[in-house]
Amino acid sequence: MPELAYLNGKILPIEEATVPIEDRGYQFGDAVYEFIASYSGRMFRVNEHLARLQRSMDALEFPKVSLKEIEAGLSELFNQAGFDRAGIYIQISRGVAPRNHPFPADSKAQVVMTIRGLNEIPDEILEKGATVITLKDFRWGRCDIKTVQLLPNAMAKQKALDAGAYDCIFVTDRGIVREGTSSNAFIISGGVAVTHPLTPNILPGVTRSIIIDICARKDIAVEERFYSIDELYAADEVFLTGTTTEVMPIVRVDSYQIADGRVGQYAKLLYRALRQEAESG
Ligand code: PMP
Repeated sequence: MPELAYLNGKILPIEEATVPIEDRGYQFGDAVYEFIASYSGRMFRVNEHLARLQRSMDALEFPKVSLKEIEAGLSELFNQAGFDRAGIYIQISRGVAPRNHPFPADSKAQVVMTIRGLNEIPDEILEKGATVITLKDFRWGRCDIKTVQLLPNAMAKQKALDAGAYDCIFVTDRGIVREGTSSNAFIISGGVAVTHPLTPNILPGVTRSIIIDICARKDIAVEERFYSIDELYAADEVFLTGTTTEVMPIVRVDSYQIADGRVGQYAKLLYRALRQEAESG
């Protein structure tokens, strides 16, 4: 299966796709992105991802980009590559201009996409659960905009791996639990699913919203509210949600085992429901 790139309207092999060195994404992190997964030969929740992409571009006052054109390019790339299970990365930068802080007056947004096969989460993680560490959130104040400025996320993920954990959950210095490095965080406490409300400090996850909808359909109460690291440690269940994370059960946070240390019923049920929805388009 070919790993392909889309570069401003052209499709070519990934290794042949290049951008100019004065792309503002490269020099200022002045770019936004999306990551879409496909299941059984169909991209999942494309409209939601494209709506968030538009929201990110609007928030940063990007030059106008036609979403129709992106949608057409996305379909063409996906169809040409022919993967059943793929990850499609879309990145849009403000454009190419001589390096200078102000937004250039007349730049043209650069649209880049790549497609590669996507590996399934190993069964062992789904059966036994994963561990996370917590770190003080040291990202900027607009984490609701999906920009490529991911250095704090990359540093936190590496720190987790170095500590033998799967990932890191960001927590404020007052002990409010925010989200993972590339996922949203939920706890189950007394049968209620609790997750951080939508504020500028977390990403409005597509999967987060699907899980909230599934909970509503299954009569599981959801509270979108601030919750503390003590509630996290004492939760009945903890799980992360995301396009590649799906519903990932967490059985240990820092030095604390969550409940009996086994994957909980809610995480299992929500994982199955998400997969079912994804596989059926
Ligand atoms: N938070 C962050 C910081 C992320 O990078 C992601 C992954 N895009 C998510 C949450 C989950 O979002 P989604 O469910 O849309 O993939």
